[in-house]
Amino acid sequence: MGSTGREIVEQAEARLAPVLEAANVAWWDSQVEATEDNAAKRERAELAWSNALADRDQFAKVESAREQGANGDVGRCLDLLYDATLRHQLADPLRERIVELETSIDMRFSRHRAIVGGRQVGDTEIKKILRQSDDPRERREAWEASKTVGAVVADDVREVARLRNEAAQSLGHRDWYALSLATDELDEGRLADTLAEADRATAEPFGRWKAVLDERLASRFGCAVADLRPWHHADPFFQEAPPDGAVDLDPYLEGADIVALARRTIEGVGLDADGIIARSDVYPRDGKNQHAFCIDIDRRGDVRVLANLVSTHESADTMLHELGHGVYDLGLRDELPWLLRSTHLVATEASAILFGSLAWRRDWLEHILGLSPSEGAELEPRVRAARAVELLVFTRWVLVMNAFERGLYANPDGDLDTLWWELVSRYQGVTPPDGRRVPDWAAKIHIAVSPVYYHTYLYGAIVALQLTAALEAEAGGLVDRPDAGALLGERLFGPGQSVRWDTLVEDATGSPLSVEYLERAVAAV
Ligand SMILES: [Zn+2]
Repeated sequence: MGSTGREIVEQAEARLAPVLEAANVAWWDSQVEATEDNAAKRERAELAWSNALADRDQFAKVESAREQGANGDVGRCLDLLYDATLRHQLADPLRERIVELETSIDMRFSRHRAIVGGRQVGDTEIKKILRQSDDPRERREAWEASKTVGAVVADDVREVARLRNEAAQSLGHRDWYALSLATDELDEGRLADTLAEADRATAEPFGRWKAVLDERLASRFGCAVADLRPWHHADPFFQEAPPDGAVDLDPYLEGADIVALARRTIEGVGLDADGIIARSDVYPRDGKNQHAFCIDIDRRGDVRVLANLVSTHESADTMLHELGHGVYDLGLRDELPWLLRSTHLVATEASAILFGSLAWRRDWLEHILGLSPSEGAELEPRVRAARAVELLVFTRWVLVMNAFERGLYANPDGDLDTLWWELVSRYQGVTPPDGRRVPDWAAKIHIAVSPVYYHTYLYGAIVALQLTAALEAEAGGLVDRPDAGALLGERLFGPGQSVRWDTLVEDATGSPLSVEYLERAVAAV
């Protein structure tokens, strides 16, 4: 007699939990301080985690228990175990090579500093130049500098894509793109349809808005619209709404304590961020990851945020976003088995985007930031329009990223430099620099280290809109509404992965994921 499904699940949990915790700690340390030593420790810990997931005996037991049929939490745990372990059922040398390459690429991203005006500059400074400088030469230099990391890693990113494909094919999938979606419980046809709908819903308002932006940029930089190039935009990938012409909330946040504002916001929803904040590393420093993330170290309350906060509105959005991940992790029901005390990518991004979006609401500006009702009333329509622009710009960017990754995995040896600029020009309406033959795509870190993930942000943004509508209807909003926090806790956070993400979305918002919410939101442009 073999083990029962429940025994297999319990054995797997006992095996996996401590290894994942150790890998999470090592990952955290390596991001907080990018030293060789921390990188080596992280590589060892990740290899141990990958080894635990690769266990062939465990995988065979999970497969046979699923074939015998199991339902309830045990069945769900077996499904999640299968999805989590399938992509690790590879020949050892292939698996090890992929992990090594990913770690090495990531480390080069962490340490790379662009050079502008003979000086080393970080991502934040590059962005500052692209937001503020009126000198096209300086802008071009900053933009080009932001892409130099691409040339450093491009060959290895192609190589890791080839290896990922080899892995996916050995497991019976077409390529890594297909395998990733299948094991993330995302249907490829459904995703393609949703993205096509999102394209249709945003093409016209985006085109209309961008024509106005282009006129403004051309007059600011004293050139014709036809002469605008990527460096005239306000960030290196044109992935965010530009400050030009939009409402600027930064003056209201000058000198603000972003952490205190975030803490106060979460408290007002009836949730608690103190424990997370105490464990977090949130201010800029040399040698640390320049981005932001939230990590659940042990699924027992050790949740941490890494960020690089400065006193800006974007930082407020970022900190709330990361805490939106964090309160979800803390809200998972204690009695759930370890495997289910986790979040689906779409659901946790939805929570994060929902909390980040609070910083854009009139009630947040008044209750949390302390603006007067008349200031709030004056800002509200402009803020709503700005938010709509954010969504539009972001959606077009996701369309680029998704189509590029589909192309990358369809043919890692293809002309990716050309593909990249074709997509950027089709979806974002940006004219490529003349004659540029540089792997600009490789400067986007996600392609290397978070492959086939970007569409999750768009799904998350749409679900966040659905949650906003549901909370508006049932609790009158979210800011200073403990009832809304309770609803989120009960319907979204509590169940963990005991149900599939698409069912969870329907349960939590009252309807399945629908592009209609996006269409309505971008109509405010
Ligand atoms: Zn996030």
